[in-house]
This record gives sequence, structure tokens and C-alpha cells, in this order.
Amino acid sequence: MNDHDYDLFVIGAGSGGTRAARIAAGYGARVAVAEERFLGGTCVNVGCIPKKLFVYASHFAEDFEDAAGYGWRSSEGTASNGASGRPRFDWPTLVSNKDREIERLNGIYRGLIEGAGARLFDARATIAGPHAINVAGSTVSARHILVATGGEPVLPDIPGIEHAIRSDDVFYLERLPERIVVVGGGYIAVELAGVFAGLGVEVTQLYRGPLFLRGFDDDIRLALADEMRKRGVDLRFDANVAAIEGTADGAGGRGGIRAVLAGTGAAGEGGSGDPETLEADLILYATGRRPNTAGLGLENAEVATAPNGAVLVDAWSRSNVDHVWAVGDVTDRINLTPVAIREGHCFAETVFNDNPLSPDHEDVPTAVFSQPAIGTCGLTEAQARERYPEIDVYLADFRPLKHTLSGRDQRSVMKLLVDAATDRVVGCHLLDPDAGEIMQGVGIAMKCGATKAQFDRTMAIHPTAAEEIVTMRTPARRLRRGEPAAAEVA
Ligand code: FAD
Ligand code: NDP
Repeated sequence: MNDHDYDLFVIGAGSGGTRAARIAAGYGARVAVAEERFLGGTCVNVGCIPKKLFVYASHFAEDFEDAAGYGWRSSEGTASNGASGRPRFDWPTLVSNKDREIERLNGIYRGLIEGAGARLFDARATIAGPHAINVAGSTVSARHILVATGGEPVLPDIPGIEHAIRSDDVFYLERLPERIVVVGGGYIAVELAGVFAGLGVEVTQLYRGPLFLRGFDDDIRLALADEMRKRGVDLRFDANVAAIEGTADGAGGRGGIRAVLAGTGAAGEGGSGDPETLEADLILYATGRRPNTAGLGLENAEVATAPNGAVLVDAWSRSNVDHVWAVGDVTDRINLTPVAIREGHCFAETVFNDNPLSPDHEDVPTAVFSQPAIGTCGLTEAQARERYPEIDVYLADFRPLKHTLSGRDQRSVMKLLVDAATDRVVGCHLLDPDAGEIMQGVGIAMKCGATKAQFDRTMAIHPTAAEEIVTMRTPARRLRRGEPAAAEVA
């Protein structure tokens, strides 16, 4: 045991690595952790936390508008300097308040790691040999190595892509743009398009396929597209950027960008022959992420990877090399913070507490913090139809009580998919401002294998939007395997 400097060397102090390090150290292992960029990783610094703070910030404009229907009036012109009493948004205040909170969290992560007795290197680490790690100018050895290096954004190789920003950059912008083009149709593109739109930015979102959020339930995808358009997002599907050009003309005298759209501008039928272009101050690419393994030295320990660089692991997060393990986004299983944390925890239990635990990747509830938000767990309608002979679809589409007085044209959608043979709820999909909060509880019920009859026996909480989940009595439709769906999107 003592022939190595450490029992465990963790590369990356993000969600997964930090949890693994502190649990392993708690079981008495001699642990070292290396972090090259920011403690807490993606989630804390350029992911979940700053993103959710920005989502909160972007909601206020709508909240102020909605307040009018409830009798609230702004105190126009009452300030001593004669300025209007209407709230005004200040981007630098938001960014600096966010930075302060993130710094506090960075400190908490340092405390978690060091407080557990692990040695923390504020440095990049690379694998130099089967048990050898290069870090901070020296080589150390470890009995086990845990790769927890996360992921990084991927941008397509098109002319002018260097003008584009990535999601990481959004959190440090000095100024709020007046116009932005968002490319992509996954979690990040949808969430950040909503943030910018809420903050009053003119947003155009381009997605290459027929409908964004591929892999989510079609009813929810369609309903979110409607809601985003109502909020002023210029949402364009089947739209691709062929090239990006820098322009002299951007907000506040800064340079802007021009996105040249692919497949547009064909001459004939009244077309000018010029391709369509979009002018903006910024273009954000949110076109996916890849595992962060380039230059890590995995080949020095003969660790096998997938073509996209992901470390290939078994159900216990062990690689093809017995003493090299990997957790979190670097394994490209389910790229969510709670999943990375669970994987890190299970790893530490397995290796340092003789308690083999493998993370359960079934029915993982998740939320997209779009506006309104999506909450989802289990199978989509398309997947359920493939898997079960008969599926009952329960659907509620309604105007939330709040908007009866605010007058806002916003709908919520709630959907349950039930296996007709067993009555088990196999899918739940929500579109509602509180969808993320509601879905956590539904996720527990689904994990327990709850049936529709048990949902129905649960007393409603009134008046809430969530009560719809336990009050949907009649299926909107019954689907049979092999029968075509009414409407299906790619
Ligand atoms: P990370 O948190 O990325 O940590 C990896 C760490 O390793 C990094 O700090 C990196 O600097 C470090 N590192 C890399 N290489 C080395 C090296 N060679 N030496 C030393 N250190 C190294 N998930 C949710 O569940 N909910 C959300 O709302 C959500 N929102 C998101 C929003 C955005 C914009 C993004 C980008 C992601 C979001 N995610 C969200 C996903 C979530 O952030 C990730 O799934 C999670 O952070 C993965 O944790 P991890 O430990 O695998 O990696
Ligand atoms: P996603 O993989 O979710 O989405 C990527 C999007 O970019 C897809 O719409 C994809 O289209 C599109 N795309 C890919 N390549 C190109 C290209 N060359 N040109 C144009 N479009 C392209 O990645 P994200 O970056 O949005 O997020 C990464 C992951 O982080 C998420 O999958 C999720 O696991 C996690 N995350 C979680 C959040 C949460 O829990 N709320 C929030 C943010 C991130 P297509 O569908 O056609 O492939």
C-alpha cells in the first residue's frame, strides 16, 4: 500500500472528482487532487450555477410586467433626479455579483478537499506512466488514478468560427449585446437564448434540424418552441451557418459579426442570388461538448478511449486498466452534475470502502432551464411506443392560474406515459416555470415504480400547477406498438 506516494490521484476538481476525493480521504486513503483551472469545475464556474443565476436575472423583466395585472404600478418620474422609477437592468452588476458568489463557492470546494485531508495541487496533471502522474514540475505515483477532467465545448470547423463565442465566454462578457445569434438546439443553446431574450437582447436561434431538443418528448419540444417565439426569440429550424464574418458595425461602436446562412439565396423564384445573412453583435456556438482528454497522457497508461476521446468504463467506472478509473463528463455517459457526483461517490465506496456500488443511470430526472422550463424523467412518447405494446398518454395543456390576472399568453404542458399492461408510469414530461422543482418529486415516484393508480390516489395540492400530475383522469390517446404516431419529429 505504501509503495506509492498516494493511494489515489484525482485529475480534476469538478463535481465528480471532488466528491470522489473527499469520500476516499474520509475512508483513510492518502489522496491528491490536481485542478488546472477552477475549483468546482464546469458546474460551479461556467455551468449550472452561473447559468441558473442568469436565468433568475432574466426572469425579472417578465415578473415586472406580470405585476401590473396584480395592481402594481411603477413610480414613474418620482426619483429625485427626475429619472423614471421603471427598473433598469445593469449587466456589470449581475456579472460582478455572480463572480463574488462563484469565488465563495471556489473557497468552499478548496475547504472540502483540504478539510478531508487530501493534498490539492493548483496545477495541470498528466499521466506519465501506469501509476505515474506529472504535476507541478514533479512526478508522483499513485495506486489508483481517477480521471475526472470533464468536457469542453466543440465548435464546427467553418470559415470565421474564430469570431464565435462559447458558453464559457457568456459568463464573463463585459457588455450585454443588443443582438445575438445562438447556434445549436441542445440544453445550453435553449437556456442561454432564453436568458438573453429575458434581458432584452434581440435573439435569433438557429438549429440545424427540423425541431430543437432532439431526444426530448415531441409535445414538449413543440410547446417550448411556441413559448420561446411568444417571448420574441426568432427561432429558425433547418438553419445552418456557412460562414461568419467580422463587421465594423456592432453595438456601442464595437465590431459585430455577420452570419452567412447555408442553402439560402438561390437565384430564381424571386431570389436575389445573395445568401441570407444575419447581423449581430455576438454569435454564440452551443453545439455540444467533448470529453476533455486531449494531451492527458492516457496512452502512457494504455487507457482505452472512444473515438470522441471519452474514457471507456464499466458499470463501476473502471477503465480497461485495473487501477485507472473515470467519472463524470469525461466518460460521456449522462453529462449532468448529480450524475458525476454519484459516479464519484460510488467509485470511492467501491475502491476505498470495499462496498461495490455502481451508479444507477436509469430514469434520471433532468430539467432544461428554458423559459418556461422543461422537466423530464423516463421515456419519451416515441421511446415508450417502441418499448411497450400499449401506452396510454395523459396530457394537460393549460394556462397557469398566475396568468389569469397577468394576462400573459403562456401555457403549461404536463404529460404522463403509462404502460397499459402494468399501469406503471414510464415517462413524465413537463413544460412549466416550476418544472425543475416539480420533477424531482415525480422522479422519486418513478424510481419507486409508481403506477398511474397510485398517482391518482395521491391527494392534489391546490392550487398549484403540479396538481395536474395527479388529476389527469382520461387518456388523451392510446398508442399501439407499430402504429404510426399522429405527429412525429426527427
Ligand atoms: P467538470 O465539472 O467539468 O470538472 C472537470 C475539472 O477538471 C475542471 O475543473 C477542469 O479544469 C479540470 N481539469 C481538466 N483537465 C485537467 C488536467 N489535466 N489537470 C488538472 N485539472 C484538469 N448539469 C446539471 O446537472 N444541471 C445544469 O443546470 C447544468 N447546466 C450546465 C450549463 C452549462 C453552460 C454547462 C456547460 C454544463 C451544465 N451542466 C449542468 C453539466 C455539468 O456542468 C457537468 O455535467 C458537470 O460539471 C460534470 O462534472 P465533472 O466532474 O465530470 O467535470
Ligand atoms: P447538446 O449535445 O445537448 O446539444 C448540442 C446541440 O448542437 C444539438 O442541438 C446539436 O444538434 C447541435 N449541433 C451539434 N453539432 C453541430 C454543428 N456542427 N452545427 C450545428 N449544430 C450542431 O450539447 P450542449 O452543448 O447544449 O450541452 C452539453 C451537455 O451539458 C448537455 O447534453 C447536458 O448533458 C449538459 N447540460 C445540462 C444542463 C441542464 O441540466 N439543465 C444545461 C446545460 C448543459 P443535433 O441535435 O442535431 O445533434
